[in-house]
Amino acid sequence: MKKIPHRIYLSEDQMPTQWYNLRADMKELPDPIINPATGRPATEEDLYPVFCKELAHQEMDNTTRYVPIPEEILEFYRMYRPSPLIRAYNLEKMLDTPARIYYKFEGNNTSGSHKLNSAVAQAYYAKEQKLRGVTTETGAGQWGTALAEACSFFHLPLTVYMVKCSYEQKPFRKSVIQTFDADIIPSPSDTTQVGKKILAENPGTTGSLGCAISEAVEKATTTEGYKYVLGSVLNQVLLHQSIIGEESLLAMQTIDEYPDIIVGCAGGGSNLGGLIAPFMRDKLTGKADPRIIAVEPASCPSLTRGKYAYDFCDTGKVTPMARMYTLGCDFIPSANHAGGLRYHGMSPILSKLYHDGYMEAVSAEQTKIFETAIEFAKQETILPAPESAHAIYGAVQEALKCKETGEAKTILFGLTGTGYFDMVAYQSYMDHTMTDYIPTDEELEASFAKLPKIPGIQ
Ligand SMILES: *Cc1c(COP(=O)(O)O)cnc(C)c1O
Repeated sequence: MKKIPHRIYLSEDQMPTQWYNLRADMKELPDPIINPATGRPATEEDLYPVFCKELAHQEMDNTTRYVPIPEEILEFYRMYRPSPLIRAYNLEKMLDTPARIYYKFEGNNTSGSHKLNSAVAQAYYAKEQKLRGVTTETGAGQWGTALAEACSFFHLPLTVYMVKCSYEQKPFRKSVIQTFDADIIPSPSDTTQVGKKILAENPGTTGSLGCAISEAVEKATTTEGYKYVLGSVLNQVLLHQSIIGEESLLAMQTIDEYPDIIVGCAGGGSNLGGLIAPFMRDKLTGKADPRIIAVEPASCPSLTRGKYAYDFCDTGKVTPMARMYTLGCDFIPSANHAGGLRYHGMSPILSKLYHDGYMEAVSAEQTKIFETAIEFAKQETILPAPESAHAIYGAVQEALKCKETGEAKTILFGLTGTGYFDMVAYQSYMDHTMTDYIPTDEELEASFAKLPKIPGIQ
């Protein structure tokens, strides 16, 4: 048999030209989002004050199976896609496993993550609608960077609210975002009503994604010609990220492979939703039955310990409510959690699939994640983002099981990005000052008790 190369590349003209909408094949759809003003399912028009029209349409479109990618977006993708699928020969050797491990590497662009795939789409549609600008939030900074790149390409002004503790921990993220001309404000801030309120109630707060979202939404809805854009969780973002999975499937076909197990890290669910999209299609349509595993931080365990309930997507409770696995929109992970994936909820699409038994979830403590990240870097010469290292960890656990059973399974995981801006966290791991914080049941119960009450629903 011919040896499979280390890097399995698709050519530019093999790049998919359509996004795949998983909802079109789901047996049961995620529950509708609810407009908090009416307590009724939101309509596409309800979303127009916040999102640009085409994106509101994509958000609500449960039936169009394939969405053509506009030529301008394809042209942008071609600067860094198709991304490589890599056979982790050295990792396999180190683990002494019969498993064949592949990873799809999305860190080959300046944002250092998969986020650019959706950023360019969202900036493009905003420009098409002739908006004057957009606002967003960023946690670890990859989304802010990706969106700044995309907005600068399309000459669209951007204001980024960055979670304060990341803003302070990662000063160079700020500089990169500014390099691409975006304005950046640490959140919570006094530039919005909701920011002022959060600061008054919680003066020492280091911020959270939920707070930053509230601020960005308020800024967008109170500034003429502005809309808000979000880099994860939403249906539209999973749609754009499906290019990751479609490319992975095509690349695996060129070497006659198909994954038995697919592993991804899960924050808001966008990379995982994108990676698994075509494999979940096969699962939903009965063509194949791969295992799908989400890996999340033990400090922010929305799938493994959260409740499947309607909740706000932000702390300020200004966004529609979605039914998802959630820790409660007031949940803020411990400040010593450095590994990203800090969002309180999970994509409604993935939440529904998980709830219906189509996928599994595990959690891991951050010291284990950094240990795995460093081993991986030494074997494969890519310094992973801590977020991505959750997926590596999950894949390694499965490969070690294969070692015990002697089964030569094919494992695919998503290596979502690089970790050059996470060196403060890497250093604290190496200095043994990094600790693990796992929320207690009492803390989670206190947070669940504050979930919104919706008459007739929950
Ligand atoms: C944002 C990010 C994630 C997590 O977000 P998802 O929406 O869950 O994919 C994972 N890895 C990297 C590198 C990221 O930037």
